[in-house]
Amino acid sequence: MSESFSVESRLVHAGVGRSAGQPATPPLVPASIFVSWGDPQPGRGYGREGNPSWEALEAALGGIEQAEAVVFASGQAASTALLLALAGERKHVVLPSDGYYGTRVLTGKLRPYGVIPVHVDQQDLTAVRAALAAAPSVLWAETPTNPLLRVTDLARLGEIAAAAGTPLVVDNTVATGLLQRPLDWGAAASLYSLTKASSGHSDLLLGAVVSRDPGLLGELRAWRSAAGGIPGPFEAWLALRGLKTLPLRISRQAQNAQAIAEHLATHPRVRAVHYPGLLTGVAREAAARQMPDGFGPLLSFELDPPKTAGAAGAAKAADTVVTSSALIVPATSFGGVESTWERRARWASETAPEGLIRLSAGVEPAADLIADIDRALEVL
Ligand code: PLP
Repeated sequence: MSESFSVESRLVHAGVGRSAGQPATPPLVPASIFVSWGDPQPGRGYGREGNPSWEALEAALGGIEQAEAVVFASGQAASTALLLALAGERKHVVLPSDGYYGTRVLTGKLRPYGVIPVHVDQQDLTAVRAALAAAPSVLWAETPTNPLLRVTDLARLGEIAAAAGTPLVVDNTVATGLLQRPLDWGAAASLYSLTKASSGHSDLLLGAVVSRDPGLLGELRAWRSAAGGIPGPFEAWLALRGLKTLPLRISRQAQNAQAIAEHLATHPRVRAVHYPGLLTGVAREAAARQMPDGFGPLLSFELDPPKTAGAAGAAKAADTVVTSSALIVPATSFGGVESTWERRARWASETAPEGLIRLSAGVEPAADLIADIDRALEVL
């Protein structure tokens, strides 16, 4: 569809042909083989090379950032392919010290193959510059971070990466391409777990890399075919269906998250709330510049448990609160239409504070969510 239409219109019509007799909805193509003989046609021989259901999803996803997308079986499969594609010559991977723990686990697992993870507070741009000067590197950023929702200035990171000749990757899972466009700030690639808000219904796992670099895109496709981290056609079809309503969902979720964050910031049982929409000063300027249309569905907060709660009080209080809701689902992950929350440090490799609760705002009315949170906090 013509790029003169808005991204919202292009997503609604994604994957649909306009000739007479074609289905007016995207077809699901569950095929492991395609009719073929002679010289293989790219993507149309064996199902590990390509599938029309992935290609429709890739076209829609790439269109959000005026780029091309390569989809994978999960966010982690996408991250693995991206690291393998980029880290060959550049062994150091400079990661945020407070980002998604799965990326720390993955880069740690790649150590025996020569990858050296370097953990840096990426809000400290002097430290980022020093890390890149130390060795040929990949700069792996995440903003806002999961689960502390810290914002890094993408314009500055892009400049620092370009000056160092370093490819910048941004894990854009929390914001989605609708709210933040890392490629416009100099990133070589945006990384997505499509499992979250991009698909939005908590019914699949998928991942993607979006880039404007033909060489990198080719490498990613080659790694996908060779390693086999391919999406299932049904998951790709579901994800495209979800993507069509992403603009509506993400806007409502960001409004809900903002309302909840503001409410929690004045709650007597809460001592800290983490949400980009509550930032002030320079951090607020960066957040507003790179996320002009909203700050996403995810926030986190820390409780002020009663003194009588004991040493493990913060964790115990958080566990009690997340099981006391009647509407918000106690569950991991984020970005679905249903609101969810969890005590994040229950995961072994997580470095978040013991009592931190991560909340993903769904699309329910904000008043219902706030009433549910207040009732749950009353158990303290
Ligand atoms: N990136 C972020 C920020 C995530 O939160 C996650 C999953 O929670 C991933 C990547 C990995 O995605 P997946 O679970 O789809 O493999």
